[in-house]
Amino acid sequence: MLARKKCIFFDRDGTLIDAPYNNLRKPKSYNNLNQIHVRSDVVDVCKKLKKEYLLMLFTNQPDVQRKKNSKINVQNINLYLKKKLFLDYILVNYSDNEKNYFRKPNPGMLFFAKKKFGLEMKKSYVVGDRWRDIDAGFTANCKTIFIDKNYNEKLNHKPDFKVKNFKQILKYIK
Ligand SMILES: [Mg+2]
Repeated sequence: MLARKKCIFFDRDGTLIDAPYNNLRKPKSYNNLNQIHVRSDVVDVCKKLKKEYLLMLFTNQPDVQRKKNSKINVQNINLYLKKKLFLDYILVNYSDNEKNYFRKPNPGMLFFAKKKFGLEMKKSYVVGDRWRDIDAGFTANCKTIFIDKNYNEKLNHKPDFKVKNFKQILKYIK
């Protein structure tokens, strides 16, 4: 039987790219492509993982619904990352409504991808820097890797693995 595909779902801000944060150590998003920088270690890690996994971005961008940023700005950053990091697919949610099934911590984006690509979730990973990422991964039955940036917020579900920086995820992805 053909093996089902495995995937790594990456959060965007604070995970694939550095995110700014305010003086309360609460992370925020960059608005514009010219503000972002992709570190070379992130490129290297994605290149390696690409051999065995589908790579996807899954990101909340509620600033669009809040009218603090435009969809076009968000899409420009996402498309740039898709090319630069060999991503197979982009999942994005613009809603500011916590009840929206596709807004993390809800698992909608992950289940959408599962169905579309026939993914084996138990062999897939979610990598993120916030509790919302970990909770979405937990609910979708993925393994979860939390990148601890020392933000001033608590986790809800315990992640399967904790790392201090992006490169360390290679230790845990089998
Ligand atoms: Mg993040």
